[in-house]
Amino acid sequence: MRIAGSGARARLLTALCFAFACATPGFAWRTLAQHETPHWDYAEHGPATWGALSPEFVACAEGHSQSPIDIRDVRTTEEPSVRTNFRPASLRIVHNLGAADLINTGHSIQVNFPQGDALTIGGEVYSLVQFHFHGPSEHTVRGRRFPMEMHLVHMSAERKLAVIAVLIEQGKPNKAFDPICSNLPAKRGVEDHLEHVPIDVELIMPRDRSAYRYDGSLTTPPCTEGVKWIVLRQPAHISATQIRAFRKVLWKNNRPVQPLNGRAVLADVMQAEDE
Ligand SMILES: [Zn+2]
Repeated sequence: MRIAGSGARARLLTALCFAFACATPGFAWRTLAQHETPHWDYAEHGPATWGALSPEFVACAEGHSQSPIDIRDVRTTEEPSVRTNFRPASLRIVHNLGAADLINTGHSIQVNFPQGDALTIGGEVYSLVQFHFHGPSEHTVRGRRFPMEMHLVHMSAERKLAVIAVLIEQGKPNKAFDPICSNLPAKRGVEDHLEHVPIDVELIMPRDRSAYRYDGSLTTPPCTEGVKWIVLRQPAHISATQIRAFRKVLWKNNRPVQPLNGRAVLADVMQAEDE
C-alpha cells in the first residue's frame, strides 16, 4: 500500500492504514507479516478477541472510551460541564474537489489524500488523510443501524486524530460516489491502486453538518483512544445498486458498539467554510 508523507507522520499513517486495510473478513495475514502486526479480523479473530491478540491491542479490551457507540442520550453544547471540552459551533470544514489516490486492496476501499483538506475543531486544524467504509454501519442511533458508514480520518500537526463519520442510507443514486463505485474491484482479493481520481468530498458529505460529538477510539486494533468523533446527524444517500457494489467487496467489517462509560455525547453544528 502506498502511503503519502514522510517520517513520523508516514509511520502513523502506515499504522492507521494497516488498521483500516484489514477491516474485512478474510484479510490475508501474509501481507502484514513483514510488519509484525498480529492478525485480526471480524471472524475467528474477531472484535471479542482483539484485546488478547497483542499487548499493543490491550485498549481493545481494557479501554474505557472506545468506539463505536450507540448514540442515544444527547446533550446540547449549552451544558456547562462539557463546555471546557467542546466549544459550541467551533467546527469548520474545508473540503474541495481534490485529486486523490483511491486504493482498492480488495479488502477495504480507501481514498488517500496527500495534501489534506481541513477540519477545524476549537481552533485546532486537522487535515484529511484518508476515508474508508464500513458495512453495515458501526455507530447506531437509538439502536438503529445503517447500511454503511464512511469514516473521514483527519490528523492534526500534533498527530491527534479526528474522524467524521457519515452514516449512509439507501436512497437515490448519488453521483458524488460514482468515482468510487466505478473503481471498485470486481470481487474480493482483487488489488488495484488508482492515482489522481477526482473526488469532491464536499459533495459526498451531507449538506446539513449538524453532528453528534464524543471522545472515542479507533474502531480497529490497536483501538487507540483520544480520537475526536464527529458523527453527522444527517445520513448520506446512495442507491441500492451502489450499496450492492460496495457489498461485493466490503461487508461485515463493523465492530460492535462499546459501553459509553459516562461519556457525554453532544449535539453540535459543523459549519462549512462557505457559510
Ligand atoms: Zn473506520
